[in-house]
Amino acid sequence: MTLDLPLVARGKVREVYAVDDDRLLLVASDRISAYDVVLPTPIPDKGRVLTALSVWWFEQLAPVLEAHGAAHHLISADDVPAEVAGRAMLVRRLRMLPVECVARGYLSGSGTVEYQRSGAIRDVVLPAGLVEGSRLPEPVFTPSTKAELGEHDEPITFDQVVDTVGAAQAQALRELTLALYRRAAQIAEGAGIVLADTKFEFGTGEEGRGLVLGDEVLTPDSSRFWPAGTWSPGAAQASYDKQYVRDWLTGSGWDRVSPPPELPDDVVAATRERYVTAYEKLTGRPFR
Ligand code: ATP
Ligand code: MG
Repeated sequence: MTLDLPLVARGKVREVYAVDDDRLLLVASDRISAYDVVLPTPIPDKGRVLTALSVWWFEQLAPVLEAHGAAHHLISADDVPAEVAGRAMLVRRLRMLPVECVARGYLSGSGTVEYQRSGAIRDVVLPAGLVEGSRLPEPVFTPSTKAELGEHDEPITFDQVVDTVGAAQAQALRELTLALYRRAAQIAEGAGIVLADTKFEFGTGEEGRGLVLGDEVLTPDSSRFWPAGTWSPGAAQASYDKQYVRDWLTGSGWDRVSPPPELPDDVVAATRERYVTAYEKLTGRPFR
């Protein structure tokens, strides 16, 4: 296979190519986005980390998917064009559901902001007294819309998911999202990492029935990973994810509207280190 394929979509981080009617090639670049904007500075090896970690998670989560009558989209990460080897996945082409399926086991970021305002995240009411970094009594499903390029994902309630995909599909999305989160959090815990939250995207295949887990899974782009050893609610947690870059951007005085600034070399290196560490700790394998 060569990369001489029709480009179907160019996302913030990935290029999507059509292989044939049933298959796509997802190619992860080293681009990094924050606050839904692509930054001008790439993070070396990021595309390979996202791909290797997703592939590893698809294997880990296959039993959970199977138990729910679901599947994942990965066909092969080896049978890909040489020029994108290591950062490409050959996948089943899906009809993606327009819902970002977020699961949270801990309070953080926009979840904390919503909670402090209303005591809830959307329609999910939470107990009083939680702070940034608190563990939630139960993992919760807090979906968003899947925004068009250049738009921001908007938080939605469960009822809005029902309006979008129907009651049965909405139930299935919530159950599967939480089941996947629970299993992934358990695996991460065994590796000394707190999986604070994550986002999944699902689609449906040809046959139209049964959810298929698509996109990337449980990467530092789609998840919050905290070192378990230093977890301490009440303030921002150390993390192996994009939060470091978000914090640097905030500190740089960027207004989130004008073109974002270049990242200095030390910030690039520290970000790369976090992505690689997430991979190595979770999988127990050295990153090569
Ligand atoms: P956008 O698509 O709005 O640009 P994004 O910036 O998150 O969002 P990327 O993640 O860079 O986009 O690109 C991946 C795109 O491919 C996403 O739109 C995702 O929904 C889509 N996608 C992932 N897996 C599949 C699949 N198996 N079939 C079809 N589309 C998929
Ligand atoms: Mg994406």
